[in-house]
Amino acid sequence: MHGPQPAGRPALTNMPPPAHPLRFTVDPATPAEPPRAPRRRVISEWALLALVWLTVLGYAAYDLRRQRERLITQDLERLQGQTLAIEHNLVRQLEGVANALTGVRDELVQAGLQARADQLPARLKLLADAMPGVYALQVFDARGAVRASSRDDAIGSSFQTRAFIAPARASIDPRALYLSPPFQSATGHFTTVLARAIVDADDAFAGVVVAALDPDYFETVLRSAVYAQDARATMVHGDGTIIVSAPLQDATPGLNLNQPGSMFRRHVDARQPSSVQRGLLVGTGEHRLMAMRTIAPPHLRMDNALVVRVSRRTSDVLQPWRAEALLEALLLALGTATSAAWLFWHQHRRRLLERAAQAAAQAERESARRLEFGLRGADLGLWEWDLATDTVTPNAREMEMLGYEPRHEPLPAAFWRELMHPDDQPALEAVVREHLRGETPAYRIEHRFRHRDGRWIWVLDHAMVMERDAHGRPRRVVGTHLDISATKQSQLALETLNAQLETLSLTDGLTGVANRRQFDQALAVEWARGLRQRQPLALLMIDIDHFKRYNDQLGHPEGDACLRQVAQILSGCLRQPVERLMRYGGEEFAVLLADADAQAGARVAQRCEDAIAAAALPHPASPFAAVTVSIGVASRVPHPEGMPEELVHAADAALYQAKQAGRARVAVAPDAGLR
Ligand code: GH3
Ligand code: MG
Ligand code: MG
Repeated sequence: MHGPQPAGRPALTNMPPPAHPLRFTVDPATPAEPPRAPRRRVISEWALLALVWLTVLGYAAYDLRRQRERLITQDLERLQGQTLAIEHNLVRQLEGVANALTGVRDELVQAGLQARADQLPARLKLLADAMPGVYALQVFDARGAVRASSRDDAIGSSFQTRAFIAPARASIDPRALYLSPPFQSATGHFTTVLARAIVDADDAFAGVVVAALDPDYFETVLRSAVYAQDARATMVHGDGTIIVSAPLQDATPGLNLNQPGSMFRRHVDARQPSSVQRGLLVGTGEHRLMAMRTIAPPHLRMDNALVVRVSRRTSDVLQPWRAEALLEALLLALGTATSAAWLFWHQHRRRLLERAAQAAAQAERESARRLEFGLRGADLGLWEWDLATDTVTPNAREMEMLGYEPRHEPLPAAFWRELMHPDDQPALEAVVREHLRGETPAYRIEHRFRHRDGRWIWVLDHAMVMERDAHGRPRRVVGTHLDISATKQSQLALETLNAQLETLSLTDGLTGVANRRQFDQALAVEWARGLRQRQPLALLMIDIDHFKRYNDQLGHPEGDACLRQVAQILSGCLRQPVERLMRYGGEEFAVLLADADAQAGARVAQRCEDAIAAAALPHPASPFAAVTVSIGVASRVPHPEGMPEELVHAADAALYQAKQAGRARVAVAPDAGLR
């Protein structure tokens, strides 16, 4: 594992979902794909947009309607104002005519009905000319015959004349002003007449004084009210017959407006002096805004009223409004289309992004699953060490390996440090530090943890820095632990076995000659035999001179090679197996000679000495410049109280003497004599 290092401690992590470049969802529950309700969201967005637009459209419609109403109301008021203006004008005319008629009639009555007949036409002409609204003035007798006229031509047929005289004859009211129904005059004009009755001294009906109204004049009056191209002004008799209209080209004199459902009928039925209406025109069927006013001033005591109407074509009144409404509708349509297109585009784009995100999430889950599978298969404990918090997040296997319950949340890194084997810590610390400094691409080390049950387990710790900050300092380390206890145990067992085998072996591994073990055995055996047979036993201790210097100068491998060469030379000059060469230890050899006294031993020793000298192996650090040996010789006859070690000590002492005497020589231990 990662060490208990000061700077770097390991973190074990099975990553929880959040943002990490490397994400393991090591353990089972891979979260399911988040449920999405894209259709519902799409529908509700459209519904919301529709609601917004319906609200906007609703308000726009309401506002347009209000503007339209205001426009219509304004125009109706204006039309009404025009009817009032016409009324003023007409009333003045009617008063003038009424007064003129009264004057003529009263003059006639005062002067005697017959008396002034000769002067009458001139007088009537004068009066008629003075009144612009009067076309002609006439006097009729009780039978309907013309007694005098301002004009030479008749104003109507005798039938028409009778018709307008009839009401006066019927009521015989001298104060009344009779208004005849419109009729077509002899000149082809449509007109109407105002009449006053003539009553004689006996209160009997004596005829009428009549003023025929001049339609041209009234057309002019009406035209003053025509303030727009589509405006129309009409003067109507109380019975509904049109007398005169302006403009002239649209005039329909004689048309009776008093039709069921007509605006005229509604006006009359309402019995109000004035009214405003909107509706269809009798005759043309055109839709119009209409103001009407009934003119029958009480003081004139008219038997029939006059009605003036001023109207405008509704479509023309609404023309500016319609243009504005059209523009507004176009803007709204454009807005609707744009927002719908935007929403469509936005949803499309979101769908693409969502699909990409889904694909990425899917790929991520896949790779996490593969990683998980790989880790499971490899039986690896996974850990992530967060250096900032010094916590480690382990996967389930990591915890299980140490004997604990699976944990997915981070644990303090100290938990691992405490489980670590103290002997392994320094080495682990060293490799982790080295890696955190960036000197190695990763680290891999074997060390021990204490299992929860108390035993030591061996793990192979393999880890690397996954993330560094801007300054290159490590932030996150990810690694694995593999339990190698079983392998490690067999390896240790093997090492022990090898060591045991080595001790059991009788041959020296380096030089190939008999080893110390064999020497010990041979010494014991030969000592026992010497004891039985009472024969001497000689021992040569051969030690290479200045061998430490050799090693120091040429290196240990060269030293080994030299040892092998010396062993080979000695083997070559000894007569084996009687003269048995063994490696006593280090750079010392021993030769055991059965049935040999000191002199015999000294001869063999000298032979060895000579052989080495003859080989002249170079030894740059020796005063002899060649490899030499010192040899100590001792011989003893074994006795029951003695021990083989005596012989070794004696040979060793002789060897010491040879060294003391200058090396590269043989020294013989004094014979201890027979005991
Ligand atoms: P002296 O002449 O007094 O014997 O000096 P020396 O240097 O030979 O003796 P010393 O006992 O000081 O050193 C013995 C050296 O032999 C020390 C050790 O490194 C070396 N040596 C012992 N065994 C081996 C071996 O198996 N291989 C090698 N290369 N060197 C060995
Ligand atoms: Mg030595
Ligand atoms: Mg030596």
